[in-house]
Amino acid sequence: MWPWGHLAAGYLLYRGLDRTRVPDAVPVLLLALGTQIPDLIDKPLAWTIPLLPNGRSLGHSLVIALPILLGLLLLTDGRRRRLVIPLAIGYLTHLGTDALYPALDGNWYYVGFLGWPIVPPIEYPGESTGIIRHFFAFELTVTSGFELLLFGSSVLVWLLDGKPGWEIVVRITKTRVRQVKIAIDS
Ligand SMILES: [Zn+2]
Repeated sequence: MWPWGHLAAGYLLYRGLDRTRVPDAVPVLLLALGTQIPDLIDKPLAWTIPLLPNGRSLGHSLVIALPILLGLLLLTDGRRRRLVIPLAIGYLTHLGTDALYPALDGNWYYVGFLGWPIVPPIEYPGESTGIIRHFFAFELTVTSGFELLLFGSSVLVWLLDGKPGWEIVVRITKTRVRQVKIAIDS
């Protein structure tokens, strides 16, 4: 699944879990981060620095993620735990949505990444050798079109929710741009 598909699935699932209230900004940002972490770990470490067997291994393994996420939940309480929950939901949504297409096809071999390293690494034919090349390989298909629709739907829900998290992103971006300008001018 493409990054925007993971993001959309995460937001719609999170929103669906508690429809009684609009989510706060920080949990939404942590949720968004969680939906991207598995690929942020595995893609660079498999495709740029070849340390991992493929782009779905260390960060995509339930064997590794579940103890870490459960540990984080057990070691935190109160407000911190309320922040770990959206991160965990985002993370697990990513794993679930990556497993979705092969599971729907009955290709259980390609769901095996969830059990890495107990399950041997999957051999992906023609796996991308670079992140930029991966994005250039985008093609409009039934699944990628579905993900774009999913993304559009989630953006609509997020807009109706009052864009939670947007103000923080804008504020951080403006601060960074200002810092870069100062660094260039000095
Ligand atoms: Zn992934």
